[in-house]
Amino acid sequence: MPSINGMTDRCKEGVDMKVFEKAPAKINLSLDVLHKREDGYHEVEMVMTMVDLADRIEMQELPRDTIIISSQAGYIPLDEKNLAFQAARLIKDRYDVKQGVYIHLDKKIPVAAGLAGGSSDAAATLRGLNRLWRLGIGTDELQKLGAELGSDVPFCVTGGTAIARGRGEKLEPIESPPQCWVILAKPPINVSTSEIYGKLNAAGIRKHPSTEGVLRAIREKRFDLLCGELGNVLEEVTLDLYPEVRQLKEVMIKLGAEGVLMSGSGPTVFGLVSKETKIPRIYNGLRGFCKDVFAVRLLT
Ligand code: ATP
Repeated sequence: MPSINGMTDRCKEGVDMKVFEKAPAKINLSLDVLHKREDGYHEVEMVMTMVDLADRIEMQELPRDTIIISSQAGYIPLDEKNLAFQAARLIKDRYDVKQGVYIHLDKKIPVAAGLAGGSSDAAATLRGLNRLWRLGIGTDELQKLGAELGSDVPFCVTGGTAIARGRGEKLEPIESPPQCWVILAKPPINVSTSEIYGKLNAAGIRKHPSTEGVLRAIREKRFDLLCGELGNVLEEVTLDLYPEVRQLKEVMIKLGAEGVLMSGSGPTVFGLVSKETKIPRIYNGLRGFCKDVFAVRLLT
């Protein structure tokens, strides 16, 4: 067990025990479900990458054994249901840390949007507390801890671009996609990931995306090919349940986005755009449909 001796001394010396982490949003360039497993989870194959839209997490040590969460976002739980809280408790329990922590979540990523905001907050909390308490936990171990919190957390620990298999925890890092603009638009509905997976008939999927096609486009740095290969099996479920997501996709294509896909279980739709000059038209056009629209870059 790594030693955390020295923490109290540093507190006594009045050192400001505070760290910050960025928690970026993820998008799926492809999301395939291979089959439903005996344990009830789905065996997935996804290509994930991160975009420059991020929550900012501040972690400050408290001398007493407690975890306090605050956020300016009124619509997330601030108790043990918060994934950042769960991450802090996990690391405290596993590494026998006696100090507490005050965690402030400055939320920028829309909630329940298919952008893994909660998972990224949890991953950032693991990274931040590892630094704050000088625990010396390696990346592999942080990812294993992350897997206990949620399927997308291991990817969010390292970010970058990766193929995720298993429940999402088996990661293979790959090179970044060609740089481009990403327009994100979230219609004003919240979608439950478990509901969407629950309604998916894994044995009857009409069209599987080509993970290999996406990987080839990335390898060959072909933006046009990448746009043509984007695919997400969960669209079958979410687009039928929420026609506004289908409509949003159509609008984004009409406005000139070159590749358009729903991220995760939705409802956020993202559009890949090669030229900055196209952004104002797409951005302004989408603002007529939803409040949550962002024009960001890939985090390559
Ligand atoms: P994923 O794509 O991983 O399924 P998501 O983007 O669809 O995630 P989140 O924003 O992570 O969804 O929120 C999912 C649920 O988690 C919400 O119901 C929210 O109340 C809860 N939640 C717990 N902790 C957080 C957090 N730190 N930030 C956002 N939501 C959180």
